[in-house]
Amino acid sequence: MNDKLIVLLTSRLKISTKVQNTMLRTHTCGELRLSHVNQTVTLAGWVQRLRDKGGIMWIDLRDRYGITQLVLEEGVTHPSLIEKARNLGREFVIQATGTVKERLAKNDKLPTGEVEVRLTGLEQLNPSKVPPFTIEDESDGGEELRMKYRYLDLRRNPLRQNLELRHQMARQTRAYLDSLHFIEVETPVLIKSTPEGARDFVVPSRLHPGEFYALPQSPQTFKQLLMVSGFDRYYQIVKCFRDEDFRADRQPEFTQIDCEMSFVTQEDILNTFEGLIRHLFKTVKGIELPPVPRMSYEDALRQYGSDKPDIRFEMKFTELKNLEEKSDLTSGKNFGVFDGAELVAGICAPGCANYSRKQLDELTEFVKRPQVGAKGLVYVQYKSDGTFKSSVDKFYTADELRQWAERFGAQPGDLMLILAGEKQSTRKQLSELRLLMGEQLGLRKKDAFAALWVLDFPLLEWNEETQRYHAMHHPFTSPKAEDLHLLETNPAKVRANAYDMVLNGTEIGGGSVRIHDRSTQQRMFNVLGFTNEEARKQFGFLMEAFEYGAPPHGGIAFGFDRLCALFGGSDSIRDVIAFPKNNAGRDMMIDTPSPISDEQLQELHIRIAHH
Ligand code: ASP
Repeated sequence: MNDKLIVLLTSRLKISTKVQNTMLRTHTCGELRLSHVNQTVTLAGWVQRLRDKGGIMWIDLRDRYGITQLVLEEGVTHPSLIEKARNLGREFVIQATGTVKERLAKNDKLPTGEVEVRLTGLEQLNPSKVPPFTIEDESDGGEELRMKYRYLDLRRNPLRQNLELRHQMARQTRAYLDSLHFIEVETPVLIKSTPEGARDFVVPSRLHPGEFYALPQSPQTFKQLLMVSGFDRYYQIVKCFRDEDFRADRQPEFTQIDCEMSFVTQEDILNTFEGLIRHLFKTVKGIELPPVPRMSYEDALRQYGSDKPDIRFEMKFTELKNLEEKSDLTSGKNFGVFDGAELVAGICAPGCANYSRKQLDELTEFVKRPQVGAKGLVYVQYKSDGTFKSSVDKFYTADELRQWAERFGAQPGDLMLILAGEKQSTRKQLSELRLLMGEQLGLRKKDAFAALWVLDFPLLEWNEETQRYHAMHHPFTSPKAEDLHLLETNPAKVRANAYDMVLNGTEIGGGSVRIHDRSTQQRMFNVLGFTNEEARKQFGFLMEAFEYGAPPHGGIAFGFDRLCALFGGSDSIRDVIAFPKNNAGRDMMIDTPSPISDEQLQELHIRIAHH
């Protein structure tokens, strides 16, 4: 073997610039260096740019691996080649042969920038229409247009790098889990509904008129059955489907790293998958992620107003009044808003005491937006000279405000921002305000990473619409042993062996220790309002399996797209999916969803109701 096996590392992503030679090229466009000078090479790729200065002409030739400059010169290059080159345009596919030469004017921004190729041969392999947007790192194309021509958009470096990143993430996930004896098992895509809280996509059965398959919202029941089968440690990088209402940055199909383990405690699961995330950070980003801190669901809500707090920055909540507790610093001063509130809580924005009237008004506007929903905002400026100025000076003395400041741990120069009202909604509103302040103060940097385990989720949540309890995670999640006795009497108080992993304020994964005995599973279904008959019909297979020796087991699933987006610093998961759908669930390129023919409808026994 020869130097073709030498792997050139272009980046941490370890994408080699060398490929096995084919008939059409000897090297890639990212490969040539000074060491190749005077070699005859053949490259193939797309024309990124043509510069014709009359006597001399340059072509930037691009492929997946980089860009190499080709040069043609009157009096040196054969006139027929120059003629051919003049007929090229952007994105034409060409094959170019020539001699590698050292450049006079080097380009230190390109890895190949020290050399150029003086052409001795040029073949146009395929012309190209003028692309509808420029294939540059910063494209001029609008999002919809780029989605329609996704295959062109994917030629751009940022998108190509995203897919390379995704590939590395998948590879390293497999490497880590393989090393721990997990095996990847494929589970079916045409199944029967698995309740994960969303709607199923359904597929009509042609051979069974009136019957339907459902696409999996996750392989949940199958992976549990694999545990009953004794597989012990399973994973799958798997497509899941959820027919949810359109929300920003949701995809109807998305990918999970889905995992399950037997004979484990919650602690084992947390350690194993914290290990996975740290492995990914280390191998893909070269970051040594510190051990992942843990927080109960209750503390997360109390301190951050969210079950997925962004702990890249502190700014925890301070409560001035909580009706459930005694420490009220606000009531009885004739300020009706606080007197009538269940919760008065705030955040302390360090160094923001001299926010202008306008800035404070903007914050008030922000919390009053319908999406946030607060009625108003109380501020207290703790001036650097130690005095206070607040929007409630009429009601509270400086001494009282000082007591607040003490509870906030505020320093002169800080700004306290306070909301009041019903507990849950106030916390949610304050959480939004906290995130905004974090943003404004530059505390939410994309290249800083803070992971967190949120533990002890409630097992159930009350649903106003259906007037019954729903499983907060899913119906196979086990209640905490010490809370089990409350299952029928005080369901809302039962905590689950359920956990989420949060990264920079985004939920990236969640799972639970499962119920593994028939009777608890049956009780759970009953609490969820299933009759025994309904439960048997929908989940009989699982409950029956539990009667044939189900091991204690539990698992987790990570949102793979989201994880890749966070790793790559993308705001949208679309950026890390090769062929995504738009925010309306539509694939702009293949144009779907789309009608099907009458014959197809008939075969499927479907009649469309026309309005
Ligand atoms: N199936 C669950 C989900 O998709 C994850 C799990 O419990 O393992 O959220």
